[in-house]
Amino acid sequence: MSNYGETVLEIDLKALAHNYAYLRSRLLPETKFLAVVKAFAYGSAVEKIALKLQDLGVDYFAVAYVNEGVTLRDLGITKPILVLHPQPVNFKTIIARCLEPSIYTPNILKQFLEIAKAENQKDYPVHLKFNTGLNRLGFSENDIDFIAATLHGRKELKVSSLFSHLAASEDLKEEKFTICQIERFKGITLKLHSKLDYAPFQHLLNTSGILNYPQAQFHMVRSGIGLYGYGNDARVDSELKPVASLKTIISQIHQLAPKESVGYNRAFVSETSRTIATLPLGHADGIGRQYGNGKTYVQIKGEKAFIVGNVCMDMIMIDITDIDCKEGDEVVVFGPELSAQHFAEKANTISYELLTAISTRVKRVILN
Ligand SMILES: *Cc1c(COP(=O)(O)O)cnc(C)c1O
Repeated sequence: MSNYGETVLEIDLKALAHNYAYLRSRLLPETKFLAVVKAFAYGSAVEKIALKLQDLGVDYFAVAYVNEGVTLRDLGITKPILVLHPQPVNFKTIIARCLEPSIYTPNILKQFLEIAKAENQKDYPVHLKFNTGLNRLGFSENDIDFIAATLHGRKELKVSSLFSHLAASEDLKEEKFTICQIERFKGITLKLHSKLDYAPFQHLLNTSGILNYPQAQFHMVRSGIGLYGYGNDARVDSELKPVASLKTIISQIHQLAPKESVGYNRAFVSETSRTIATLPLGHADGIGRQYGNGKTYVQIKGEKAFIVGNVCMDMIMIDITDIDCKEGDEVVVFGPELSAQHFAEKANTISYELLTAISTRVKRVILN
């Protein structure tokens, strides 16, 4: 175990390669793989992760917003990049940087078509997103005639793919609902294929979809969280390797007498004598206030130390009464030995939120 002497997020590129190989092994060889690298590659280090994924041979990338796609192009990503949630104000940038927009409303289709025309584009690749039950983004089935009529005879755009997103792919109690979404998606694509004179490819599954509904892999899958080492399922998590480890050190140790308090608003008051350590990371680093007041713990030499009192902007305090440790010792917040999913769950949230919250002031250290 390395001790960096400060708070760092360690990024293990070998773990990334392992997770990619594992997810690929669950798919048919001909299925294309889109790597979701939105939100700074789920809070890790997009500049290293994206290039590594390109080397590993992923077919496609996706980001949420146009500026994230521009970052990928600036990094030297040459594979196609799907922008999941573009805003019309950025449509010219999309074309200038060869990004591929998800088009999700009739109005946005018209706007993109106008820009593509003004920019003299021919067969510009776009991806049509359909709402099949998540009720977040996407055309409805009723828009198919409008889409077909709008695109008829227009050379500016070419629909590369049709896609949708599952609402509960990780929750097997919702299997019936998910099967309905899959069937609805098939119906929509059949209808559109009959109205366009070519057949765009199709994709539906996110990470949990790959694991639970491989029969619906169509021509491509879109995986994010699985690449970073979490599968929303304990059995799968044992096959994956967390890419990011958050590590810090003990800055100072205090001995508390009974009835003394710790931190702002005196949120923790000791009943007995306690030993308290202060760590250099807080809510401005991504450890939100929901993790405070005994909700969750970090590890020192493999032993649990619970967070006591309120999380501060730049610090948290932990109870180390029963742990043999000293100032400068390493503390693990999450990583292969202490799952981010588990850490997040204790405070009623999910690994996605914890990982993407780690702020850029936390130094990234790249391994392998
Ligand atoms: C974020 C996102 C994904 C990736 O989901 P994971 O659960 O992280 O695999 C896939 N598709 C869409 C539309 C998304 O927004």
